[in-house]
Amino acid sequence: MTLTGKTAVITGSNSGIGLGIARELARAGADVVLNSFTDRPEDHEIAAQIAAEFGGKARYIQADMSKGEACRGLIEEAGACDILVNNAGIQHVAPVDDFPTETWDAILAINLSSAFHTTAVALPKMRAAGWGRVINIASAHGLTASPFKSAYVAAKHGVVGLTKTVALETAEEPITCNAICPGYVLTPLVEAQIPDTMAKYNMSREEVIKQVMLERQPSKEFATVEQLGGTAVFFCSDAAAQITGTTLSVDGGWTAL
Ligand code: NAD
Repeated sequence: MTLTGKTAVITGSNSGIGLGIARELARAGADVVLNSFTDRPEDHEIAAQIAAEFGGKARYIQADMSKGEACRGLIEEAGACDILVNNAGIQHVAPVDDFPTETWDAILAINLSSAFHTTAVALPKMRAAGWGRVINIASAHGLTASPFKSAYVAAKHGVVGLTKTVALETAEEPITCNAICPGYVLTPLVEAQIPDTMAKYNMSREEVIKQVMLERQPSKEFATVEQLGGTAVFFCSDAAAQITGTTLSVDGGWTAL
């Protein structure tokens, strides 16, 4: 499929799932706008590499997704925004009675409110262009819970609710809004946790992955950032034009349990 002529803005895309999605959208022909809160030479270099590899335009815009005005500014500065991928996210693990208030606020701001702000500015652009796709990266934790992840689970359930609402508000337009719900994905962040966990439990890499990390993922395999990128490309295809307001789990069977 070709997304030539479309511009995709992917929040939180200088690493992990966001970068994987940006790469697959660029491979499908889209121009891409990458984002994170940092402004390092390597952030801009990632965009330059994507442009060189796939031939479209790619640029990096620094914007802190914990701040509503910065979220809105990102979409304004991007110019066109035919495809919006709300991906930026952080995590913190603590019992609810011990959960730091400022961390709760940050998780709700970055994982949920940012999608409200970016979508609010992107929808008029999509309407003007006569086509649009909003793709929210929720989680298996948008559909089910785990202990000690109150803010993350609340935010991701909120993302699913926002997805349904935006889908209904745009249902009669050539715009769709859906959420992808990944299970455990092998990102650099997850990879970096493996050595410590191996040492902590005196386990092999394979044991840590299957018995600790993927304990709830029936396939016992990580999802990959390329698979999530492919899922995003699918939501941009004509085949998905009547798919709106839904969640698509990429979780190796986690939420079927
Ligand atoms: P990651 O840490 O590699 O990516 C998070 C991205 O968000 C990074 O680019 C980071 O720079 C960016 N970010 C963080 N704070 C930001 C801020 N204030 N402003 C702008 N950007 C900010 O992690 P990831 O695993 O790729 O996660 C990406 C998304 O996927 C998140 O929403 C996460 O909740 C979701 N997710 C991840 C998994 C998994 O197993 N890795 C599973 C389900 C859902």
